[in-house]
Amino acid sequence: MSETLSNKVPLAAESRAAFAAWVDDSAPEGRVFGQVLVRPAPQAGYSLRHVDDAGAMDLRLYLDPRAAWEIAKLTENGEYRPLKSSPNLRRGWELRVDDARGLATAMNYLYPAGIVHWHLYREGRLEVTSFRENAARQSGIYKRIQSLTDRGAKDAARACCEDAVCLKKILWDIDETTPLEMDRGGGEIPCPEPCSVFVSFARRVRLFEREEKRDLDAVGLSPSEKEDLAALVEAAATGEVAFAREAEFEKPLNERRMRYRKLTLVPKLRPKA
Ligand code: SF4
Repeated sequence: MSETLSNKVPLAAESRAAFAAWVDDSAPEGRVFGQVLVRPAPQAGYSLRHVDDAGAMDLRLYLDPRAAWEIAKLTENGEYRPLKSSPNLRRGWELRVDDARGLATAMNYLYPAGIVHWHLYREGRLEVTSFRENAARQSGIYKRIQSLTDRGAKDAARACCEDAVCLKKILWDIDETTPLEMDRGGGEIPCPEPCSVFVSFARRVRLFEREEKRDLDAVGLSPSEKEDLAALVEAAATGEVAFAREAEFEKPLNERRMRYRKLTLVPKLRPKA
């Protein structure tokens, strides 16, 4: 689309048209966006479903694009999904929409801002904000992420943002000269700026860093590391490790917190020879 035309067409409409055209071009296979398979419907409109339900016949059918809000809200286990790009979208549904507008409405519930970011990224117009720029804008209890070290920010991103826990392709870096040095993800949805879940996790990692400086015991473990180890042993002893909710970073058995411990605690416990 020419710059002149794109100035006249609101961004949402421009993105909606580009996304629908991209899906149309893929007929009949369809496109995968996050965990959603989008296919042009045989007569008109579009059909959406979880990608793992590609061949399923017994799906619950929805015809209102706003049903996507309900579909995106909870995991299979009924837990709230604070991060819609986490790979925990529930299965068992099909959503049919009439046109490009309905498709955009549904996608915006499933992946908020996803198609606008996708479109701008493809056009080379997506603005990216580094971790340091984002941190400089924080206030209140999140201001302390400004003191997070580069190492801490890199470990936080690896624990919080890789495809195992978030399907967005991470575009931002620590700052202009300090890259993240991680697998940035292979999905279609770009991540141009640290999100609120990452900021909250980075705050927790900053607390761990401060604790590391002042509270190490004789074997070099911090209080929270010992707390996490004890919680893991206790949970494993019951035969079942139940993770804390996705954004409950204050709890030992949080998945991202455990991923961070794998990066920072395991090397302490198993030093390389
Ligand atoms: S900052 Fe990380 S967790 Fe948040 S949306 Fe981006 S890639 Fe995902």
